[in-house]
This record gives sequence, structure tokens and C-alpha cells, in this order.
Amino acid sequence: MKTSQHSLHKDTFLLYKTILFPNQFVHIPMLLQASGYLFIEVFVYLCLTTKKKNMFAEIRRKERKMEPQQVREALECGEYGTLSMCGVNGYAYGVPLNYVLEEDHLYFHCAIEGEKLRNLSENNKVSFCVVGKAQVVAEEFTTAYQSIIVFGKVTFVSSEDEIRRAMLLLVKKYSPEHQETGEKYINQAIKRIQVIRLDIEHLTGKSNR
Ligand SMILES: Cc1cc2nc3c(=O)[nH]c(=O)nc-3n(C[C@H](O)[C@H](O)[C@H](O)COP(=O)(O)OP(=O)(O)OC[C@H]3O[C@@H](n4cnc5c(N)ncnc54)[C@H](O)[C@@H]3O)c2cc1C
Repeated sequence: MKTSQHSLHKDTFLLYKTILFPNQFVHIPMLLQASGYLFIEVFVYLCLTTKKKNMFAEIRRKERKMEPQQVREALECGEYGTLSMCGVNGYAYGVPLNYVLEEDHLYFHCAIEGEKLRNLSENNKVSFCVVGKAQVVAEEFTTAYQSIIVFGKVTFVSSEDEIRRAMLLLVKKYSPEHQETGEKYINQAIKRIQVIRLDIEHLTGKSNR
């Protein structure tokens, strides 16, 4: 009885194998093992993406959500923003800074010491808020605005080539008519400049008309 049941299972198994993989040599244990790995990979991927999705809140008022292209343009044109970080003293610390956008990161420049750098060396997770436009509409008791918030991690740039490139981008953005003088200044001051790169992980733009 046991033997006939076993052979029935074996027959069914072979039948499925033939239907699923006709004219093909398939090593079933290997296939199961591979699908097992695939299952684990899919599971880990879903856990990570869900975690990231939940980590950053969505804009509640959907009608105020800016389109990705508008967000990018506002970020490119923004004059300055506020870099918010966790302070080593336990208080939030936000400083206004100029910046430049390149691909999926922002560059900042500053002196090689200061509170901002102390904070960032302890915790590199930051947000950066840029207000594109803001106009009080007094008679309607509201403000017409456009603002962007970037979340990500910062890195202190150590490569001289990258520092120079970032500084040239800043000069091009803020002093396009003084690029030659800017380049001279960069060469003289490069050892005294700290460049910070913020790799963008999450980006939202909100506008009120
Ligand atoms: C529009 C704008 C653009 C700027 N762009 C740049 C830039 O691109 N690069 C740059 O390095 N700096 C820029 N600054 C200056 C910048 O805001 C900081 O003052 C500077 O980076 C020094 O920061 P820190 O934490 O090292 O200062 P520290 O002197 O080490 O800070 C010590 C304390 O000083 C006070 N403090 C520091 N900065 C300010 C501030 N801005 N306002 C009021 N109190 C302050 C705070 O209480 C802080 O706890 C800009 C400022 C403005 C307003």
C-alpha cells in the first residue's frame, strides 16, 4: 500500500514536471533551492522598500503636491535653504546655506570647523528645506508658496577633484559672470574649504497656487 502510494506521488510529480517543463532537463532540487533563494530575496526587498516608504511621510494634501519636474526646477533655481540636523546637544540645529544641485545630490561649502560640522560628524542624516517663492495674500489670510524638502545623508568630500568641481558649480550658479576670478579663489582657498555632499534619498515639493 505504502509503495503504491509512493509510486502514485512519483507519477504525479513526473506528470507535473512534464507538463511544466516539456522537452527540458530540469533539476528539480536545484530549481526548488533557487526559488527558495528568490523568495528570500523578494522578501528582503519588500521589507526594505516598505520600511523606506513608511520612513518618509507622504504629503497629506495631494492637490498641493508638486510634479517631479517642478520640484527639480525649484531646487535648481532656489537661492538658499535651511539644513536641519540633529545637534550633539540634543537640540535641533538648522542653518541657512547656499547650495547647488547636481544629478541626485546637493553640494554645500563652508569653513573646515564649526557647530554644523560637529553635528554632522555625529549624525549624517539631514533634511534641507528650500522655499521657492512665498507671497502673503493678506485679503485671503494665506500665503502663496512653493517649497521643497530633501532628505538624505551627507558626506564630507575629501577628494580635491570633487571639491574643485563642486566649487566651480557653486561659482557657476551664484557668480556666473566671475568664473575666472572664482577659479583663482578656489585654487588659493581649497585647503580651507569643506565641501559637503547631500545624497538625496527622498524629495517632496508642496505648493499653494
Ligand atoms: C542666505 C544665507 C546663505 C548662507 N550660505 C552659506 C554657505 O553657503 N556656506 C556657509 O558656510 N555659510 C553660509 N551661511 C552662513 C551659515 O548660516 C552659518 O552661519 C555658517 O555656515 C556657520 O555655521 P556653523 O554651524 O559652523 O557656525 P558656528 O559659528 O560654529 O555656530 C555657533 C553658533 O552660532 C550661531 N549661528 C551660526 N550661524 C548662524 C546664523 N546663520 N544665524 C544665526 N546664528 C547663527 C548658532 O547659535 C550656533 O549655535 C549662509 C547664511 C545665510 C543667511
